[in-house]
Amino acid sequence: MICDVCKSREAVIYQPHTGRNLCKECFINDVRERVKREAEKQGITKVNKVLLAVSGGKDSLTLADALASFVDPKRLIAFNIVEGIQGYNREDQAKKLNKYLSDLGIELISTSFKAEVGFTLDEMVSSAKGKGLNVSACTFCGGFRRKLINNAGREVKADLVATGHNLDDEAQTIVINLLRGDVKRIIRVGDVPVKLSDKFVLRVKPLRKVYEWETTMYAYYKGFEFQEVECPYISSRPTLRARVRDLLYALEAMRPGSLLNIVEEFDRVAEEFRRKSEMKELPSCKICGEPTSYGREICKNCELLIKSGLLNYQNLPMS
Ligand SMILES: [Zn+2]
Ligand SMILES: [Zn+2]
Repeated sequence: MICDVCKSREAVIYQPHTGRNLCKECFINDVRERVKREAEKQGITKVNKVLLAVSGGKDSLTLADALASFVDPKRLIAFNIVEGIQGYNREDQAKKLNKYLSDLGIELISTSFKAEVGFTLDEMVSSAKGKGLNVSACTFCGGFRRKLINNAGREVKADLVATGHNLDDEAQTIVINLLRGDVKRIIRVGDVPVKLSDKFVLRVKPLRKVYEWETTMYAYYKGFEFQEVECPYISSRPTLRARVRDLLYALEAMRPGSLLNIVEEFDRVAEEFRRKSEMKELPSCKICGEPTSYGREICKNCELLIKSGLLNYQNLPMS
């Protein structure tokens, strides 16, 4: 079969949401074009410096490669965090990531939970367990990743932080927030970043219109050997996100393009919301000084360390 775009090369991929058959080159170009359109809307092409949060997975490699195709790589700095998970954070994987990024002309800076927080993720999880705390590893990991990424963004004076969240992630997040009725969070997911604290470096998701299967194929066609080992902390317990994911995939299979429709429709609604609502500045954590959610005195990260017996603090307010 011949590619529907160039009409000359052999098609190797079928794109259900457009109904087109594409060759490798036209597929790569299509993804880059969509990332570029989103990046322009998010301001990436106009700012001086962007921090890329990378993990070595397919999404972060696709993110770095696609952005470097239209942004001067000297304006991009990649940031990687070693969580400290036995058997998961591998030295050879870190070396590969470094090589791919330096081939693209992107500088990589790295840190670890151990260096920044004082504990590896394994240590936090086992201490929490020792205290009888029923908190998943993902709660620790997600919270501290966000904090460290924001700190790094401030340190390198980045105007924006870009993460590798893809369309599947974004559609799931939107539906989860809707199910929870979390309006303030809903507005923050939209395509235009909202600044709620001077301490926050604005976060953007250039891959939010690219399907996960597309980031996988992109990374594969570019020859990236990405981290495929599953994180040992992924629980078999069906989380809300896993249930929403299955539901959305069933919908997508019935009507290709459904996920894209959800995100695009949502962006229009979020835009309306933003115009009509007043966004107040977020409060700062009394312990670490970082911004935290409305109504909190101590951020979730510090609270988790206290409850796990890893940080001493008196007068912990009830939350
Ligand atoms: Zn083609
Ligand atoms: Zn704190």
